[in-house]
Amino acid sequence: MTQLLEVRDLKTYFPIRKGLLRRTAGQVKAVDGVSFTIAPGETLGLVGESGCGKSTVGRSILRLLPLTAGEVMLNGSRIDHLPPAGLRSMRRELQVIFQDPYSSLSPRLKVGAIIAEPLRNFGVASRDEIRGRVRDLITKVGLRPDAIDRYPHQFSGGQRQRIGIARALALNPKLIVCDEPVSALDVSVQAQVVNLLKDLQAELGLSYLFIAHDMAVVEHVSHRIAVMYLGKIVEIGERRQILAEPLHPYTQALLSAVPVPNPKLQRRRIVLKGDVPSPANPPAGCRFHTRCPYTFDRCRVEEPRLDEVRPGRSAACHLASASGTQLTT
Ligand code: SF4
Ligand code: MG
Repeated sequence: MTQLLEVRDLKTYFPIRKGLLRRTAGQVKAVDGVSFTIAPGETLGLVGESGCGKSTVGRSILRLLPLTAGEVMLNGSRIDHLPPAGLRSMRRELQVIFQDPYSSLSPRLKVGAIIAEPLRNFGVASRDEIRGRVRDLITKVGLRPDAIDRYPHQFSGGQRQRIGIARALALNPKLIVCDEPVSALDVSVQAQVVNLLKDLQAELGLSYLFIAHDMAVVEHVSHRIAVMYLGKIVEIGERRQILAEPLHPYTQALLSAVPVPNPKLQRRRIVLKGDVPSPANPPAGCRFHTRCPYTFDRCRVEEPRLDEVRPGRSAACHLASASGTQLTT
């Protein structure tokens, strides 16, 4: 299958600066060699605890942050080193929805102007066409037509996220990076926004990189899931396979925290010890070894590779790659 997005060995490092002179004192490897693909019409869920680097992946692809190394291809063309003119045309295909609908919408602009902004910036339509297009977008995301003349503060959180979605759709993008788009919303509203995103995908053939810290959200939207820990993907594969048989102990822990309606089917809760270590100083060997319930000697010295352990599924764990079977306690 031709991939819409291909990310190869992406690295995004930040310098740590210390002292009055702000001298560089090491670096934080926020994203440290991440690879994945997204097909047309597909959603890849990128999940992990806060600070694991998942938003940095999204921002690096969007070129909102400078990449340290690696390749990003959109529709077969490299976009990781585009000059400003090239970036502009890339923006039409690649859009973003941010976590916080409160701060990502300009409070001084009316909703109509907010949604029209990308159209004006790209000069893609006449004044009348813009007005018509904005009306269409407003209805498409489930807002009332009179929203066009109101201000963001007059809307609820869920409605504001719908405004953000309408703006992201304005230029007919192919891929939208959704960076925790429902995390700031009430649980009752989250499902509505997630369903809207799914409906839009079906209608428009969109692809999503859907970033979240919560497996419960990711498992509803994704075709494939990538699990990140301390700057690296530790497991990636088809959604159903990951849910049925998570191979990496960290994936197992994340899934065990998701409540299920039938208590008989509830997974045994795996509570991880300790906090996520600092990405400025990740543990040697397997980065997860300080928290993994299965750590053994090899884990402390040898870093597991992200190997394909069965077709379409990769996991970075010495146990998973040795046996290809699920760990049990
Ligand atoms: Fe746990 Fe070792 Fe596997 Fe890392 S390699 S996840 S420490 S069992
Ligand atoms: Mg984030």
